[in-house]
Amino acid sequence: MLFKKHIIFFLTSALIILTSACFCNLCSANQDLRFSFHKLESNKKGSTILIVGGIQGDEPGGFNAASILATRYKITKGNLWIIPNLNFISIINRSRGVYGDLNRKFADISSDDPDYNTVAEIKKVILNKKVDAVLNLHDGSGFYRKKHIDEMHNPSRWGQSIIVDQEKIDHPFGNLAETAKEVVKNINLKIKSNEEKYSIHNTKTCDGNKEMSKTLTYFAICNSKPAFGLEVSKSFLTYKRVYYHLLVVETFFKKMGIEFEREFELSFSGVKDAINKDIQICLNNKILLDLEDARKQLRYIPFRKDKKIELNSRNPLFALVEYQGKYRVFYGNRDITYIYPEYFEYDEQGVDSINILIDGVEKKINFGKMIKVKKHFVVKPVKNSRVNIIGFIGENKKKDEANILIRKNDFIKKFSVDKSGLIYRIEVYKEKKFSGMVLVKFII
Ligand SMILES: [Zn+2]
Repeated sequence: MLFKKHIIFFLTSALIILTSACFCNLCSANQDLRFSFHKLESNKKGSTILIVGGIQGDEPGGFNAASILATRYKITKGNLWIIPNLNFISIINRSRGVYGDLNRKFADISSDDPDYNTVAEIKKVILNKKVDAVLNLHDGSGFYRKKHIDEMHNPSRWGQSIIVDQEKIDHPFGNLAETAKEVVKNINLKIKSNEEKYSIHNTKTCDGNKEMSKTLTYFAICNSKPAFGLEVSKSFLTYKRVYYHLLVVETFFKKMGIEFEREFELSFSGVKDAINKDIQICLNNKILLDLEDARKQLRYIPFRKDKKIELNSRNPLFALVEYQGKYRVFYGNRDITYIYPEYFEYDEQGVDSINILIDGVEKKINFGKMIKVKKHFVVKPVKNSRVNIIGFIGENKKKDEANILIRKNDFIKKFSVDKSGLIYRIEVYKEKKFSGMVLVKFII
């Protein structure tokens, strides 16, 4: 089944700058999935690198690495432009290319090809005069080796290599083979396993390599933009692929004078956490769902009667797809939960926060947020409104559940958002209208 209709998407084609600490105010529309474009720019002059992830939808190492660069890095010198999800429709479909291989459409594309606009738009970004170099992130099979060793280690494999199309082009960073050589030398010093070490692969595209002449990187170098294909081995699990991509990308940063800070440690476990932690989406600015350990199904989530959905997330790999009356939530090519909506009118003009005693301390909490509770909480009464604590043992949909001291054991576990039974929903209604939701997470 191909997911292309009724996609609720949260990024417009406008340039969007992601900051690291908050949900960004991204807008949504009922439209086909389009790629997002993130600019991390510093105040210090320097070069600009464009990173492309997800040109092929079945290469999660590349698009997860690009997404992490867009959300967990801060650039302190130079600029980083990132398109983490170029072929988003293929990413959620776990397909190399729903409409054929997007990375073979850069020499020639018919105007009725469904990928036509994507190719035209990314070409425009590549040709922007600010862009000094392009890194295209891939996951390739096996391990590239110059000489045939065995089935998985030979010249027709791609993994653990840096691809250049030719030795050099005329550009300050145009010494392609030389740059790749230096990067490979530096990263190999950090890689213990011989099998996992990188090689350079010069595809000598202009000497008649027909396949490679149709690619994004060759389009770039034909237009005097230095470009490299980064290939990590598909033999690794995703987090390990992402780790290697980031190791290579950071080495390119160094070479091109780009300085940065990152939120996590560059190690296998640090990268694994960066991929799997803080997986949250916000709906209509009123509902936060923490999906790190989400149940397979989330039921009775209050959606707008008119079905208008604004999906906000720090992470650009989220998509919400309507499917037989429910919604599938995708995180990259992982299908993480089904949301079963219950439709309400929203109380748009009403309160946008509630007061909660969290372990005895009163705090004002906006809708669409999550609180952390050690022992107990009490929701303060909301004027003319009803507090509904989903899964609370004494729950009575018609009764107000404000002013009750509630502990974790007061919940029926099957109503939690997460499989571990630690996260629950506080919902506020004004008569029949939905006002908003706050999540409670018990810390144990
Ligand atoms: Zn690829």
